[in-house]
Amino acid sequence: MAGLIKAEDVQTVKERANIEDVVREQVTLRQAGMGSLKGLCPFHDEKSPSFTVRPALGVYHCFGCGEGGDVIAYLMGVDHLTFSEAVERLAGQLGITLRYEESNGRGGPRDGAAPGKRTRLVEAHRVAADYYHAALVDSGEARAGRAFLLAKGFDRSVAATFGVGYAPGGGTSLAAELQSKGFSTEEMVTAGLVGRGQRGLYDRFRGRVVWPIRDITGDTIGFGARRIHDDDRIEAKYLNTSDTPIYKKTSVLYGIDLAKKPMSQQRTAVVVEGYTDVMAAHLAGVETAVATCGTAFGTDHIKVLRRILRDEPGSDPAKVIFTFDGDAAGQKAAMKAFDQDQRWASQSFVAVAPAGQDPNELLSSEGADAVKALIDGAQPMFEFAVRTRLAAFDLNRAEDRVRAMRAVAPIVGSIRDQALRVEYVRSVAGWLGMDVDTFGREVAKAGRAAAAQPQPLSRQAQQTGDNSAPEREVQHVLPAPDLRNPVVMAERQLLQVILQYPDALLVDEVQLLPAEAFTAPAHRAIWDAIVAAGGLAEATKFSARGWANAVASHAAPAVAELLPEIAVASLPVTLEQETGLPPERYADALVQRVRDSVVSRKIADAMSALQRAGDDDQLARRLSETLTQLHRERAQLRAGME
Ligand code: ZN
Repeated sequence: MAGLIKAEDVQTVKERANIEDVVREQVTLRQAGMGSLKGLCPFHDEKSPSFTVRPALGVYHCFGCGEGGDVIAYLMGVDHLTFSEAVERLAGQLGITLRYEESNGRGGPRDGAAPGKRTRLVEAHRVAADYYHAALVDSGEARAGRAFLLAKGFDRSVAATFGVGYAPGGGTSLAAELQSKGFSTEEMVTAGLVGRGQRGLYDRFRGRVVWPIRDITGDTIGFGARRIHDDDRIEAKYLNTSDTPIYKKTSVLYGIDLAKKPMSQQRTAVVVEGYTDVMAAHLAGVETAVATCGTAFGTDHIKVLRRILRDEPGSDPAKVIFTFDGDAAGQKAAMKAFDQDQRWASQSFVAVAPAGQDPNELLSSEGADAVKALIDGAQPMFEFAVRTRLAAFDLNRAEDRVRAMRAVAPIVGSIRDQALRVEYVRSVAGWLGMDVDTFGREVAKAGRAAAAQPQPLSRQAQQTGDNSAPEREVQHVLPAPDLRNPVVMAERQLLQVILQYPDALLVDEVQLLPAEAFTAPAHRAIWDAIVAAGGLAEATKFSARGWANAVASHAAPAVAELLPEIAVASLPVTLEQETGLPPERYADALVQRVRDSVVSRKIADAMSALQRAGDDDQLARRLSETLTQLHRERAQLRAGME
């Protein structure tokens, strides 16, 4: 666990970090009016952009899923970092040296200045990549590795560009290298670089050519390793890092760090099948090439690409081109990609070389132009899918023609673009040797059958809600709550928890809060809306966003702007760090603090009344009894907080 980063350093990082640049690493943004930018949300799956960044304010906000916050919250969410890790990553990029608080024995001190876990895992990968690359270049043992690469057409400088390396066969040398650089066994094992066996630590990759797999920002987060020695006891041609805290095989794309920018500019992505194909494509000038790492192209990969390509309906469609080997496995992979086609607004294409070569083979045998020609000559996914299906039938036989027609009609029926569909009905009827009307009827039938199915992807946001509502009345504005006042701040945070994490709270305790628990008028108005929406007891019936929306529908117009802000603002993680409390204790503590301030105000009121009681003994006695009662209540509250 990381030590506490000094608050002023956190502040410096926040001020110097440009949220726009940080977001652009993963999301393509475009101008959306005064001072704001829009893109596809990285936190939920959406087809039209509701993810907004306001660089001048240093904040982001998604109107679709409600995520929002500052640059640190963004990194925490999008890359699954802890608060410290996010700050450390930004500080590293900005060249800011962080200082850490000395542990002072209060509130569970953390051990010294150990940097966050992700940083350590990334650092271990950097050391490993350097080590592997040096081994490829220098060691005699790596001769077979160099020969393998040369045979594929990659010389020393290409290997350097892509950071290709060689994992020595001895089996423990990387572990020793990492140990000498101060990495703990735990870190090496967690990183997936080293395994722990009966006879101690062993290197995960042994006697193989290795490719560093980098994330979108260029950090190495895993490796792919190819078998080159016949006596390699592991049969698998490729081994890849298994999932680790920083590596998710279903979403990593090899080459994404290099391809990101050209992809966004050209709005084209080329998906090839392997590490050497990515290298070959880039060398041939196809800079938008990426490959999955030991897994089929899936929905998580689609999400990554769509954000970069600005894959939205309406605008000029982006292009995704898949290359596949000409063999049966390649065709199967292509048909699988086709099944996912409906997840894109982009148009997808398939490129298969005439003799079935992959881009690497094409580059070696015919040169860069052949690779480019392969990509340029890609055929639409629909056409490829139809032709692949048709190949299974003997169209000279009438019976087969009817079966073939039924097999391909659903494919054509699934084309969303109406004009394109009409076009395809005509073409495919020609390929089948049938008249257009007959085939057209079959396609329409298939389309109706598909429409009757539930459509998982059409659950498009209904969340936009009725934005016009607040404008019906003239808004009178409540004074902005003074968050410098700790009591008001506690109210604010409690409202945040109630709206965002209702499950973290004890229903009874919150239900019992009196309305006057909220001193700031705007907070009070939001609390009234919470009560009107049924109170916390009702919250469990909703999703987090549904609950916030339910509250919003009961809110006074005067807080129409403040409420969504509170519903998405990130909680002060620094505060969580300071208290060291897990979220539930933190939530309880907030309730206690608000209740405490209610009692304290009552005490103050009673004291004041007592002073004014003069010689009214009866009143004075009653007030003293009340005071005693209140003091006891407060003492109990405070005891409960320990
Ligand atoms: Zn979102």
